[in-house]
Order: sequence, then structure tokens, then C-alpha cells
Amino acid sequence: MKGLMQDHPLLISSIIRFARRNHQRVEIVSAMGDGRRHRTTYGRAYRRIAQLAHALTALGVAPGERIATLAWNDYRHFEIYYAVSGIGAVCHTLNLRLFPEQLAYIINHADDRMIFVDPMFVPLLEQLGDAIPGVRHVVVLCDEDELPSASLPDLRSYESLIAGHDEEYDWPLFDENTASSLCYTSGTTGNPKGVLYSHRSTVLHAYAAALPDGISLSRRDAVLPVVPMFHVNAWGIPYMAPMVGAKLVMPGQKMADGEALQALIEDEGVTVALGVPTIWLALLQYLERSGKGLGRLERTMVGGAACPPAMIKTFLERYGVYTRHGWGMTEMSPVGTVNTPRPDWAEMEPEERERLMAKQGHGLFGVEMRITGDDGEELPWDGESRGQLEVRGPFVCAGYYRLEESPSHKPDGWFMTGDVATIDADGYMQIVDRTKDVIKSGGEWVSSIDLENLAVAHPAVAEAAVIGVAHPKWSERPLLIVVKQPGAELSRDEMLAFFDGKVASWWIPDDVVFVEELPHTATGKVQKTALREQFRDYVLPTA
Ligand code: ADP
Repeated sequence: MKGLMQDHPLLISSIIRFARRNHQRVEIVSAMGDGRRHRTTYGRAYRRIAQLAHALTALGVAPGERIATLAWNDYRHFEIYYAVSGIGAVCHTLNLRLFPEQLAYIINHADDRMIFVDPMFVPLLEQLGDAIPGVRHVVVLCDEDELPSASLPDLRSYESLIAGHDEEYDWPLFDENTASSLCYTSGTTGNPKGVLYSHRSTVLHAYAAALPDGISLSRRDAVLPVVPMFHVNAWGIPYMAPMVGAKLVMPGQKMADGEALQALIEDEGVTVALGVPTIWLALLQYLERSGKGLGRLERTMVGGAACPPAMIKTFLERYGVYTRHGWGMTEMSPVGTVNTPRPDWAEMEPEERERLMAKQGHGLFGVEMRITGDDGEELPWDGESRGQLEVRGPFVCAGYYRLEESPSHKPDGWFMTGDVATIDADGYMQIVDRTKDVIKSGGEWVSSIDLENLAVAHPAVAEAAVIGVAHPKWSERPLLIVVKQPGAELSRDEMLAFFDGKVASWWIPDDVVFVEELPHTATGKVQKTALREQFRDYVLPTA
């Protein structure tokens, strides 16, 4: 027997329609490239979204067509998200930190018909020239009088495109499983793979992640996503914020600029900010130099790479800011787990609490997890057994765009994350390593993440990475690569002595190399593949 409730589809257009009615005066503030701060509201954004939807329809954009963006986080990018998905087309966000060849590959693979581009990336698009023959329209995110001249097809400004169109749109109702947006994984190995989100998965992810023990967003919040809208939809914040009526603060291109982030946080009364650890490293270094504070900021959500406990501690003890460590993947929309403290942690010894807070957290409702051993058997949730982390749920991808066989799905549908993890009896998951980053010394695992977390707890260390290097006796041994804090002194022996008593002696790295900077991926994570390549022939003193 079927229930007798309305079968109303979960559509992205319903979020902005809701915000326009219920949160019309709530602000969207964007830091623009020229240093200005642009201010608008959900009410005004709605009217421009309607105008853009008309403009797209007038250009003949059909349902299912891919419309790309090459842009920073700002109000126009937000409008494009809603207009494109709202009419049933697919918003394909391009990662602007990719190499031109990778961009061309992705644009062609997705068969993008039109690209919305930030003025500063017009030369990059022009450089792609004949390599992207399918692109028929290029719209620059600027006013008509700012339109650069470039040899690109049907070049026009965003403002001229939407001008004069009706400010209301009759949003179509369609199947909630219709594709809404497309994001390619960074492709640290092989070609990038496209994850194709649906309206249903996007709306469900926003509901789940906005819950109090998830990211926890409400209309009392001002949220700053320092996670790019060009990578996994800025962790879903552009959907969650209008859903709950939170003020949305967009950092524009100032994503790694500590000074600009501090100013935005303080001036705009930001209460929640989200980003990868590298971003917060830049912010904390700036705060240290300038002696400035973080205004009304209550918490940060840190994910995308392991958040070192030392960072959690600094935020809390020096700035009174709580960190929620989270884990996710492009394939998961992306939030999978969030670490919110359980009430009983309050009575614990601080060290024990810190140990638990460093975990990646409990699954969101909608994310089912399991860990499996080498022969595929399921391992217990005892906080000790480590195995491949697998997930399934309504906002986990079922396959990749235009790829016949997914290399990451099991026949029973579970998605293999490529991460090695433990899960404790309370459901708190901890990432030990990525499968491809695992170091095996004498057949035993050494967790590179644990070692990195310890290294950055040393006051003279800014950033650290641990990789496995070939060893004649142990097959692999850990090598620690360190970037020192500006002006700090630190020797190899001091660094190694710091590990004494904190980890098993055979985990302690065999050597330390000091470098000026670490290579980062397009999404701001340490690029271990590049490091392994760089140190492939490194001879350890113990070898
Ligand atoms: P890519 O970096 O390949 O584009 P994603 O951005 O989807 O892919 O990154 C997903 C991966 O990032 C996860 O599989 C995991 O290895 C890593 N990751 C994400 N969050 C965390 C975290 N909190 N701790 C450790 N690793 C994390």
C-alpha cells in the first residue's frame, strides 16, 4: 500500500523560491576582485535568477545541456547555480586551478555548450581556443562596460545577458532524479571523473548537512564558505544557506589570503567558516602576525584533508572558536561525516577529548558506512580495526559521467572511498590514510596522517607531509618533509626527538627534509603523488 502524501519532487528551484518568500532581506555579501564588497539579498538574487533563466531559455538552452562556470565564489556564480539547474540544465563547475589541457579535456568530455567566466580567466579560455570546439557562447561575469575584448564565441557580459528579462519565472516541475550539476574529481590518478548530482541528491544533502550535529546552519548564522563553488558546490553551502536563511559571505578570489579572510569574518559578523586546513593555516599565521581576532566567529568546519589536532587547539584556546572536523568526497556531495562532540565528552580529561575531536566524526543521516578487510569481510566498529571505508546512500554517486564501468563501485553498489579508516562503537570514524598513501614498513602500517598531525604540533612547523620511501630491509620507511614557520629554527634531530614517546618507536620517520613549500593540488591539499615522485630516489640514512 502506498502512502497518501503528495508526490512533490525535491527540486533546487524550490530552495530559492522558499528563500525569496521567507528570507528575502537576508544578505549575500561578495568580496569582488577589485576590492569592493558587493551586497545583495536573497530577494534580489531571486529576481536576477529569474532573469537569467529567461536569458538561457531565449538562447535555446535545453534541459540536460551542460552549462559551465569558471568562477570564484560570488553572487553571480550563486545566481548561475540556481538558474541553470532550475530550468533543468546541468551546472558544470570548472576548477580554475587546473592546467589548460585538463580544462579542455573536461570541457570536451562534458560537452559544455556555454561557459560563464570570471574576467580574469578570459585569457585562459582564449588560450584553449580551438581545443574546445563545442563551446558556442561565452559570458563574462561583469558589467557591459567591463567586457574585455577577446576572440571567443558569442562573447557578452553577464549584465547585458540578463538585462530586460522578466523578474519572475515559472519554474518547471520535473523528476527529482534529473541531473542538476556536474563536478569532476581532481584526478590525482588518471583522467578526472565526472560526478553528476541530481536535484534529489542535492536537496537531501543540504537537509542532512545543515542539521545541528552536521554543519549546523540556521538563520542566526552568517556563513563563509572558503571552499570553492568550483569544487563540490562549496560543500553544499549555496543550497543550505538560502534553505535556512543564513547570511552568505562569499570570499571571491581571496581564498588563501589570511588578511582578507580576517576582515570578512570580523566586518560581516561571520559565525561559521568552512575550508581545508591549508586555508586556516594562512588565516592563523596572519592572526599571529597582526594580533587581530575573529569577531563573532563561533566555529570552523575543517575537512578535505586531515585537520591537525594542533589547529583545533589553537582555534579554541587562542580564539575561542570550535572546530568541527569533517570528511567527505566529491562523490558524496560531499559531506560524509562531521565531528560534533558528544555530551559525555565534557567530563573527559582534555587529552582524551582532544583525541576524540581529531577524528573525522560520525556519519550524517543518509550516509551508511562500513569498513572492510583485504578479503572484503566487514570489520567491527571497535575503533581499532582498520580497513577500506565504503559508503552508500541517496547522496553518494552511483557511477561516473560517461564512464561505462566505475572502478570504485562494488557489485552490491557500495562505493569504495579509497580511504583506510577505523570506526568506534559510537560511530566516530577516523581516517588513517588514503589507500594510495599508506606506508607499509615491514608489512605493518604506519599512518602518515598521525605523523603529520604530530609534526605540525611542533611550534616551529608550519606544514608537514610524510611519505613512504623505499628501504632495503623494511621495504618502505617514512620520510618527513617539513615547511618551517617563518623565521623559526629547527634541526632534523630536534624534529625527530619530538616524536619520542608520542608514537611507537618504529613509526618515527627515518629522516627529515626541510623545504620552502609543499606542492598542493587544485583543491589545496598536499600533493603526495608529486612528493613521492620528487623523493623517489631519496636514500634514507638507515638504508
Ligand atoms: P580529490 O581531492 O581527489 O578531488 P575530493 O576532494 O573528493 O577528491 O577528496 C576526497 C578525499 O579527501 C577523501 O577520500 C579523503 O582521502 C580526503 N579527505 C577529505 N576529508 C578528509 C579529512 N577530514 N581527513 C583526511 N582526509 C580527508
